[in-house]
Amino acid sequence: MPVITLHGRPIEYRLLRTRRNRFVRLTVTLGKGLRVSTPSQYPMKDVPRIIHERASWILEKLDEFARIERQTPRQRYCNGAEVVILGRVYRLRPIPASNGGTMVRVQGDEVEVLYPASLSGEDRQDFLRNALLSWYRVQAQRLLPPRVDYYAAQMRLHPQRVTIRRQRSRWGSCSAKGNLNLNLFLIMLPVKTIDYVIVHELAHLIELNHSDRFWRVVDRYCPDRKKHQSFLRKSIHYLEI
Ligand SMILES: [Zn+2]
Repeated sequence: MPVITLHGRPIEYRLLRTRRNRFVRLTVTLGKGLRVSTPSQYPMKDVPRIIHERASWILEKLDEFARIERQTPRQRYCNGAEVVILGRVYRLRPIPASNGGTMVRVQGDEVEVLYPASLSGEDRQDFLRNALLSWYRVQAQRLLPPRVDYYAAQMRLHPQRVTIRRQRSRWGSCSAKGNLNLNLFLIMLPVKTIDYVIVHELAHLIELNHSDRFWRVVDRYCPDRKKHQSFLRKSIHYLEI
């Protein structure tokens, strides 16, 4: 990989040249670092200048992702890995079973997952990961809608549709049509923090922005939102399951 020095730091990057590109694009992504894609005819000698122009932004992004990676115990789906639900940390206990069938259950401070004894290595990891994902999905479907109903009634609001799904970069959203999207992985957060996200998205039915008026609505139903906001920022790696 080519290397460039930005503010005294050597930074590796990947260079991608494709005919489809019309412009030079710089992207920094979690786990993959800096990527520069250029049109195929673009003069190579101009690439460093383009990177230097955005040096501060690039370094800021790289540092932010490095911080997240340090905080994330790589989910390995092995014995003893962390499984978080409603803010409580459990330990994963994979149990080989000869008769197929998936089962996930909480036993004390462990989450037991049965897996086919014939699986090993990557296949076993994939199986455990998928089993946990569907378990999270079931828990989210069971626990999130009643909380939305509760706060919608309190706030006298009527969301059109509430969808629970995986989202890579946000905990929830609200569309101009009044549809609420909640991230499946909200289920990993403490209940009070989940409630904050729900109140936040519901409040967007009144104000589709983050104006003072919007925050006054949120504060009325969720007085310690600052605490929850900082917890959410620290928990963004939950979305990388
Ligand atoms: Zn918002």
